[in-house]
Amino acid sequence: MPKTVVVTGSTSGIGLGIARAFAADGANVMINGFGDRSQIEEIRKGLESGGGRALYHSADMTKPDEIADMMAEAAAEFGMVDILVNNAGIQHVAPVEDFPTDKWDAIIAINLTSSFHTMKAAIPAMKAKKSGRIINIASAHALVASPYKAAYVAAKHGIMGLTKSAALELAEFGITVNAICPGYVLTPLVEKQIPDTAKARGISEAEVKSDVMLRLQATKEFVSIDEVAATALFLASDAARQITGTHISIDGGWTAQ
Ligand code: NAD
Repeated sequence: MPKTVVVTGSTSGIGLGIARAFAADGANVMINGFGDRSQIEEIRKGLESGGGRALYHSADMTKPDEIADMMAEAAAEFGMVDILVNNAGIQHVAPVEDFPTDKWDAIIAINLTSSFHTMKAAIPAMKAKKSGRIINIASAHALVASPYKAAYVAAKHGIMGLTKSAALELAEFGITVNAICPGYVLTPLVEKQIPDTAKARGISEAEVKSDVMLRLQATKEFVSIDEVAATALFLASDAARQITGTHISIDGGWTAQ
């Protein structure tokens, strides 16, 4: 029986890379996220070349009813959700006193609270089967802070707390809950924040890459999407069954400092 994987926010960037890695491994995959419908359909069809089925659900991660519907559809179509990857995320860069309240609310909803809703939906069947994997795509910002990213850092620290708490609750049910903490990966999310960071700090966009993003990344290289996807595949494997309630950093040495 192929495993079923739900990856939130998987029409782009890291989530898409993770969905492709699981699909290439033969899994049934439910993808989710925003974007052009014909492009998403191309992506969905491509995922089926690994031998499993692929479905797309347009659930907005700020909307609990839509999240519940996506999780119910994945379970109905594929039997159950074996592996849940909470990946959807957005960013906004501004000083705390100027931080737009609607951006704060959206970041907390998408980057933190949506994972609570997906987990709430997935856990009962995982518990009944005594098997499951929950992988939360956190960030180096789940462990350390940077200025001008208050909402993102708060949400990512929060997801670490949710990861640890759920791991303890589920440890005796064959379910592991872990976070992956990447450093900077060049995805649309990161590309979009370069002009804002340049403005907030009064520096050029090239300086944002070299002096802000890669300053603390000791390797001086961006992390690749494939490296994050390979780690997700490992955490979902039998070999990782004693790894729970923790994180794996893929940050080029950033948080060693
Ligand atoms: P991205 O912008 O390329 O992709 C984000 C995905 O989330 C897209 O599919 C988008 O459609 C989806 N999304 C956004 N809002 C949504 C909503 N309301 N409902 C449903 N889907 C929504 O970003 P990315 O860089 O691939 O980031 C993915 C995750 O990795 C995020 O949680 C991010 O915080 C985390 N992360 C990224 C980096 C990095 O450097 N890129 C580093 C550490 C952690």
